[in-house]
Amino acid sequence: MKLHEYQSKQIFSRYGIPIPKGRVAATANEARHIAEELGGRVVIKSQVLVGGRGKAGGIKVAKDPAEAEQFATQILSMEIKGLPVRKVLVDEAAAIEQEIYLGITNDRAAKKPVIMASAAGGVEIEEVARTNPEKIIKLHIDPLLGIKDYQTRDVAAGIDLPREYWKPFGEILKGLWQVYNDNDATLAEINPLVIGKDKRLIALDGKMLIDDNALFRHPELSEMRDTDEDAPSEVEARKYGLTFIKLDGNIGCMVNGAGLAMASMDILKFFGGDPANFLDIGGGAGADKVAAAMRIILADPSVKAILFNIFGGITRCDEVARGIISALAEVKPQVPMVVRLVGTNAEQGRQLLSNANMLTAETLFNAAQQAVEVMKGNANEHPRQ
Ligand code: GDP
Ligand code: MN
Repeated sequence: MKLHEYQSKQIFSRYGIPIPKGRVAATANEARHIAEELGGRVVIKSQVLVGGRGKAGGIKVAKDPAEAEQFATQILSMEIKGLPVRKVLVDEAAAIEQEIYLGITNDRAAKKPVIMASAAGGVEIEEVARTNPEKIIKLHIDPLLGIKDYQTRDVAAGIDLPREYWKPFGEILKGLWQVYNDNDATLAEINPLVIGKDKRLIALDGKMLIDDNALFRHPELSEMRDTDEDAPSEVEARKYGLTFIKLDGNIGCMVNGAGLAMASMDILKFFGGDPANFLDIGGGAGADKVAAAMRIILADPSVKAILFNIFGGITRCDEVARGIISALAEVKPQVPMVVRLVGTNAEQGRQLLSNANMLTAETLFNAAQQAVEVMKGNANEHPRQ
């Protein structure tokens, strides 16, 4: 889950990281009032969940409240990379001497969090990463030990930060680590962290990604979710606790278990099929969950067939079958469906389903092959416009 800049900066601030004074506004009039309160120059910043807002014209410095209102009007009517701007952040403008990049993310290969820092921060950091990767220094963190003073000094020295800033920089870096660690973030990033003309360090921009799987222990962060960027089907799935990702193919998949879902997709592809989604209904899913999953899959008009791949471990296959059948009564799908059931009471489950006119298979191999065949048949009967 992505957080907006203003949300990330509010969190930063709670951990002692200095941020500009400012507030978020949903109308140009509000933006004007905030600018009046702040006095002086302000920066109007679009709050959308994509990068590169500056380059897209979504960030403007205004000299007075009238100009703040005018820029806010413009920016609130923009779309940036397909996302409509619904809010702007109005911050005191900073006079910048240098822009630094500072971020913490997961280094999966090293199995550790990693600090990344560069003296060449700002809007060109991706370019720097491509053309001059040596200008970005990296330092791993042992999550049990956290960040030690010598490490903050290593990073400061590594980006040639003038000595006078080492202490406040160290505090910011430690704060950023706490932000990252306490909130189960997979990214906590300040770009730019600026050295101001007033000789102070301040976080002008903020970005955080939160691990979705850890959200259950951060209800206050879950509430911050902005669903504007998500596909409606993914929002609906989340309500039912389903793990759902929409894909571009035309065979809907309903599977219990993420590994099984991946294997199903691979085998579909092997037979020349193309999955329409990734969906894990999880263990012990009841009829309501199965029905929700079926509605979500069928809401996608490109779906021409559905493949069920259910492994009954503790879950009994006959129960899953009953769940599917009661869901059928409610959803009344018009596409062919192939079910592969294996495990406890699989025999009874298959019997129940074939009585309900569903195609059943004993192996995933057969089921995937059948799903691709019936998909082709159905696609020929109902060609897309
Ligand atoms: P991003 O483009 O989405 O990463 O948005 P940022 O918040 O990082 O802003 C992009 C750029 O706008 C920064 O790198 C700065 O150069 C500039 N900028 C942002 N805020 C201010 C400010 O208060 N004063 C000045 N002078 N420039 C700013
Ligand atoms: Mn930025």
